Amino acid sequence: MNKLLKRSLFVGLAATQLPVFSAPAEKQQNPNIVLIFMDDMGYGDLSCYGASQYKTPNLDRMAAQGIRFTNFLSAQAVCSASRAGILTGCYPNRVGISGALMPDAKIGLNPSEETIAEVVKKRNYKTCAIGKWHLGYQREFLPLQQGFDEYLGLPYSNDMWPVNFDGKPAAENSNKARYPVLPLIEGNEKIREIKTLDDQSQLTTIYTEKAVRFISENKMNPFFLYVAHSMTHVPLAVSAKFKGKSEQGLFGDVMMEIDWSVGQIMKALEKNGLEKNTLVIFTSDNGPWLNFGNHAGSTGGLREGKGNSFEGGQREPCLMKWPGHIAEGTICNKLASTIDILPTLATIINSPLPEKKIDGVNILPLLLGDENANPRESFLYYYRKNSLEAVRKGTWKLVFAHPGRTYIGFKPGVDGFPGKTNENFQFEEGLYDLRRDPGERYDVKEYYPEVVAELKKLADEARLDLGDDIQQMPGKNRREPGRITEK
Ligand code: MG
Repeated sequence: MNKLLKRSLFVGLAATQLPVFSAPAEKQQNPNIVLIFMDDMGYGDLSCYGASQYKTPNLDRMAAQGIRFTNFLSAQAVCSASRAGILTGCYPNRVGISGALMPDAKIGLNPSEETIAEVVKKRNYKTCAIGKWHLGYQREFLPLQQGFDEYLGLPYSNDMWPVNFDGKPAAENSNKARYPVLPLIEGNEKIREIKTLDDQSQLTTIYTEKAVRFISENKMNPFFLYVAHSMTHVPLAVSAKFKGKSEQGLFGDVMMEIDWSVGQIMKALEKNGLEKNTLVIFTSDNGPWLNFGNHAGSTGGLREGKGNSFEGGQREPCLMKWPGHIAEGTICNKLASTIDILPTLATIINSPLPEKKIDGVNILPLLLGDENANPRESFLYYYRKNSLEAVRKGTWKLVFAHPGRTYIGFKPGVDGFPGKTNENFQFEEGLYDLRRDPGERYDVKEYYPEVVAELKKLADEARLDLGDDIQQMPGKNRREPGRITEK
């Protein structure tokens, strides 16, 4: 029996001593799992995290009925890497995925890595992926080859298409013209082409209808449903149901439609009598792409955004609802990450962890309201190909000197057009106390040399394990991505 299973038994025993909540009983069917994953949606984009000029009532209800995390980090602040992290429970660089894979990428998530879908398969779950995949476009990397029984969605980002920012077809020889037509894929096959913003405006509805159908078709067996929305990644598009409905403009309309989608999924669970035995999780892959101005989301005041290891790039809303297990209205301010979802689910359903080393930790005690638990003490902020840009322990964050993207000092774009960024700004080393300085504005390393030393020690260990391009260290325990074998 591995360590985590032993710990899971311990958690189960501890939980039975709590007055109201308990770990699932042996004979009860394992819970269904619904994981809703947004794209480029920031920390400030839900009403229950401070959004204004539109409301997200279904998500707010989910928060009221479950747990709302305030220190929840995505694995990395960019699409493909973040998805590799959430689905494998690893820092993305451990499994060889960085950045955003282009449609002609020759690599993908290595099929030898175990995804959440493969972990739950060991407990006879039916599995379905809907929406943006972005872990390899080639057939051998698509969801059906990574543990999912069904798939419907876009294989990569919705802006990787031969269409200009104004929605018109890209001119020949233009930068955008290098992209192939954006395919909508079902199973392993293209079933439609997404050629216009009008086509994009149907995506949230198409994904939602598929999710509702999958729930009703699988009400008799445990299932894992992964809904990875293409929104709110630009180009934004919304169906007629929500066009012009928010005071904020198109971004607000899109968020209202996402909230509607969550409501439809909740209704489908209720209608099929599954509400009580389903764990629903909602979070996002990375922070807002701020240079898109009014078409970007909000970091809620955190520093920087997508493509950046400051908090605006990686801190995300995270809601979880599991009636009878997670107490209503719980707020968790402790550190947790998308990479913790896989080991937590494995614990809940008593399925073995992947054979290869993972980085996630079991956060079930946080869900069950154990005030003394602190399963994740530290976090590593990697970016670029393999650069360790910051480390965090508790509320302390040490940012290393590094080149990176900044949005600061540039006028953002408007109505779908991007403004400029500096992709090679030289950030200086700084120690930030996120307890009193969540905006990472005040470097206090002079006052706390012992904290700096402790965090540097953590970084040294990380560099031996996972490497660091800035220090030209390769790391001992990184694994290769999958590479295409044909041609
Ligand atoms: Mg993204």
